[in-house]
Amino acid sequence: MSAWKDNQEIEFFREYLRIPSVHPDIDYEPCVEFLKRQAIDLGLPIEVFYCAGPTKPVVVITWVGQRPDLPTIILNSHMDVVPVFPEKWTYPPFSAHMDDQGRIYARGSQDMKCVGMQYLAAIRALRKNGVTLKRTIHMTFVPDEEVGGNEGMRVFVKSKEFKKLNVGFSLDEGIASPDETFPVYYAERSIWHVKFILTGTAGHGSLLLENTVGEKFLKFFNKVMEFRQHEVQRLESDTSLTIGDVTTINLTCLNGGVQSNVVPPTLEAVLDIRLALSINHDAFAQQLSQWCEEAGGGIKIEYKQKQPKVEATKIDNFNPFWTAFKQASTELGLKIKTLVFPGGTDSRYIRQAGIPAIGFSPMNHTPVLLHDHDEFLQADVYLKGIEYYKKIIPAVTNV
Ligand code: ZN
Repeated sequence: MSAWKDNQEIEFFREYLRIPSVHPDIDYEPCVEFLKRQAIDLGLPIEVFYCAGPTKPVVVITWVGQRPDLPTIILNSHMDVVPVFPEKWTYPPFSAHMDDQGRIYARGSQDMKCVGMQYLAAIRALRKNGVTLKRTIHMTFVPDEEVGGNEGMRVFVKSKEFKKLNVGFSLDEGIASPDETFPVYYAERSIWHVKFILTGTAGHGSLLLENTVGEKFLKFFNKVMEFRQHEVQRLESDTSLTIGDVTTINLTCLNGGVQSNVVPPTLEAVLDIRLALSINHDAFAQQLSQWCEEAGGGIKIEYKQKQPKVEATKIDNFNPFWTAFKQASTELGLKIKTLVFPGGTDSRYIRQAGIPAIGFSPMNHTPVLLHDHDEFLQADVYLKGIEYYKKIIPAVTNV
């Protein structure tokens, strides 16, 4: 039990957790400063790029391999965390309090400061053991993943600095697992946020007017719910499917109306849609338009977000990085489960650039608490994760 008491890696992790890099308006400089000290401790070069302006640093710590000419490996993590409701927490969310069971409470303890620090810890140990690796490793620490990565990984991937890294494979975040298995993610659904602006006959609330927004909304929404129910049934009837394998569709905003006795001329509804990998995007967009027509027309569609289809990372024998990852996890005795990620991560930008990417956070026997109150990670789970990376990182790097 004492492994995590007075453990230097645990202390580094807690120090990083205490930096309140929390949305909105994050000051990333304390993270940069912390990582600079880490780079010094590791004896590795560090660079900071500002692709999206002076408040959005991308930190890259590099370990040059024996064959720097080969495509490199990135070990990616994001520095930002989601907001907290401190009154709902047992311990202050940026105190990194460790209780007598070794549970470390902090926003970011699971999502995903743990993974970023585990990469550093594993590499510190490998270097101490005098290990040399074939390919070059870049540990990247990016901003703004939790707000979609628009000023983070999305622009970084398109930058000349990124091209220079000559990346061949990426590891990034996954999710904790309450049982013994380890989820490993090879793809993501495409996120669409669509606003529907319904227009109809306005007038007095005492009449039976035709073509009101209320009627249109009901007709339109029935179509949406019919489709949704179909996906619910598909998921329930096939135990091999998980939420990432089906299309989810949810009403997230509904706005309109001026006064109780006035039929309004407009009504706005927003849907959050996550398209399964099997969906044809053009056909689906067509379907949405058709539903609007069938509901009576006069409905304008605005795409707030319309992510393109991104090819899944191949998890077969033709992807040598995958084979190496899989073999290392088998040798470690890890029970891995390959899945489509239910939400969105920075891996989508990496995959979009044609680079294979795997999402993996080594946290089993851990309740899923990302974005939740009392987010915590058990110290011994954290330390075990470092051991796993000490095998997985060399495996993918020596491909
Ligand atoms: Zn995350």
